[in-house]
Amino acid sequence: MRRPVIAGNWKMYKDLNEAVELASGIRKQVQEFDNVDKVIAPPFVNLTEVAKAIADSNVYLAAQNCHWEKEGAFTGEVSARMLKSIGCRYIIIGHSERRQYFGETNETVNLKIKAAVANNLIPIMCVGETLQEREEGRTVDVVKSHVTGGLKGFTEKEIDSLIIAYEPVWAIGTGKTATPKQAQEVHRMIRGLVKELYSETLAKNKRILYGGSVKPENIEELMKQEDIDGGLIGGASLKIDSYVDMVRKTSELYEGK
Ligand code: PEP
Repeated sequence: MRRPVIAGNWKMYKDLNEAVELASGIRKQVQEFDNVDKVIAPPFVNLTEVAKAIADSNVYLAAQNCHWEKEGAFTGEVSARMLKSIGCRYIIIGHSERRQYFGETNETVNLKIKAAVANNLIPIMCVGETLQEREEGRTVDVVKSHVTGGLKGFTEKEIDSLIIAYEPVWAIGTGKTATPKQAQEVHRMIRGLVKELYSETLAKNKRILYGGSVKPENIEELMKQEDIDGGLIGGASLKIDSYVDMVRKTSELYEGK
């Protein structure tokens, strides 16, 4: 069975005190749900203090981005190696907001995954189509190109732990969620593609998260889908109660499986 993941992407929200308060509150309330991987991704500047707030717990730290070089004259950037050194375990890579506003491409995503893998960080690679691409019937092509471009050149072993997050751009932060059926269709296609590119075993074990306006009210229907293994969640991960609620619901669903 694939272990579910509930990953909170805090984007550019929460100052230091707010971040520590949120992390501490989550930590206190999710310890008992041990069949779910709990991940939080605060902004860079708060990572160190949040790491302290969740130290020795079963909540893990993620960064929202990284640079692919180890170090160098890249003003304003942060390397995967640095993130590892302050306690990150995961890195979100290729989020659609980074592709849309900061010019990320499949090539830069590929380089960043390489850096993450080299530093023993678990990449959460984001893929997904825009509304226009969906309306033009290009969802499958776009998602396939994100997956194949991002994973280009990696061996099966290197991407063993990598997580894929399918996030239709039109559903992120808009309140519009893909229906469970729409999401499941794409997740199944991604799993099939992983099988084609690598092997049945990797495809069977690969965790594929859904993201796009997930909240406590809709998480169960999404998580019931065969190929959905958790969520990458923005807005609804910014409050203790709602994050905890989503972890609880996921835990209860998986307990019976
Ligand atoms: C995200 O940040 O990846 C996301 C899916 O945001 P939201 O849940 O707010 O749509």
